[in-house]
Amino acid sequence: MKQLSAKVAAIAPSATIEITNKAKKMQREGIDVISLSIGEPDFDTPKHITDACIGALKKGETHYAPSNGIPELLAAISEKIAKENKFACEPDQVIVTCGAKDAIYEGMEAVLNPGDEVILPTPAWVSYEPCVQMAGGKTVFHPVNQKTFQLDDSILEKVNAKTKMISINSPSNPSGAVFDKKSMKLVADLCEDHDLYAMSDEIYEKLIYGKEHISLASLGDMAQRTITVNGFSKAYAMTGWRLGYAVAPKPIIKAMSRVQQHSVSQATTFAMWGAVAALRGDQKCVESMRSEFDRRRKFMVAELGKMGYTCAPADGAFYAFVKVTGDDNKIATDWLEKGHVAATPGSSFYAPGWIRLSYAASMERLHEAMERIKKVGGK
Ligand code: PMP
Ligand code: GLU
Repeated sequence: MKQLSAKVAAIAPSATIEITNKAKKMQREGIDVISLSIGEPDFDTPKHITDACIGALKKGETHYAPSNGIPELLAAISEKIAKENKFACEPDQVIVTCGAKDAIYEGMEAVLNPGDEVILPTPAWVSYEPCVQMAGGKTVFHPVNQKTFQLDDSILEKVNAKTKMISINSPSNPSGAVFDKKSMKLVADLCEDHDLYAMSDEIYEKLIYGKEHISLASLGDMAQRTITVNGFSKAYAMTGWRLGYAVAPKPIIKAMSRVQQHSVSQATTFAMWGAVAALRGDQKCVESMRSEFDRRRKFMVAELGKMGYTCAPADGAFYAFVKVTGDDNKIATDWLEKGHVAATPGSSFYAPGWIRLSYAASMERLHEAMERIKKVGGK
């Protein structure tokens, strides 16, 4: 038989998904595994959102919709962007995608030519590099300072004639760090000085604890060159709905739209009505989930501290990024196999020597997880 695609063979599987699958398999075998390896809110989608979706289904919203999204959702997103993210956005600068992940993939396809380089500050979430690879580009990793988790001038050394884009994610998965004004300004200056595009994944913008979220596109002329990625999975506990979006200059949206038309066609029609309710409805649900995450975050960071572990600044998202001195892959395997706690090794996020623990689990399970980690040990 002829060989399958070399391009796809070069792509690593998603570590977050693989480890969680392993934890699920152990659970099916009757083992009480505490899964802290995947970033997924443990809350159910708020009722007013599911009701809107059920209502849409009952009304017959079961047909194809415009490929970029239903006009009601495009309008709600563009208003949200102008009001909260503080940059101008027309509805035709928005595309609704099948999850934020799809927006990242389509954005990379839209911008990159073979050989183009994308600078990726690390630690970074697992799917950016594969999306760059699928689009034929090359990822250039830039490790951030592992104390502050902010950017500094050293990132300039990564820019060359092939650099096309810089991809950032604040609040960060996996570190929880939130880029301050100085880091954001540095990215903006870099893009403007070297004529680069930017991708700014802001999916955790609502899950932030005492810091300020800055949208890259709100700085200088960055709205002209930035793909802002966001979605509903994290803020509204809608992971299984597979709904995300991108906001970008019109030529980029047009290019993303071509990828979308020939791959997924559109996001699910009735699901989009749920998203309209999410954006237009009462935002109290977002705050109540955020404050519960905050409570768990404080507990987890304190407990890990008592055990002698230090964490990256857990200022956003729902991850404690824990420094370990041994081999992170081995320690995470021990935690899973001996302690029955699933965690994701930092190596999967290009940061060996760290382990990511999600605190999107009940307090009771987090208490138990801390006890188990204490017993297994491994620093
Ligand atoms: N970006 C980041 C940083 C994430 O953690 C996730 C979670 N998987 C996504 C994008 C994708 O989210 P989704 O596709 O569920 O909207
Ligand atoms: N963003 C989540 C995580 O990092 C979900 C899994 C994934 O899509 O990678 O665990």
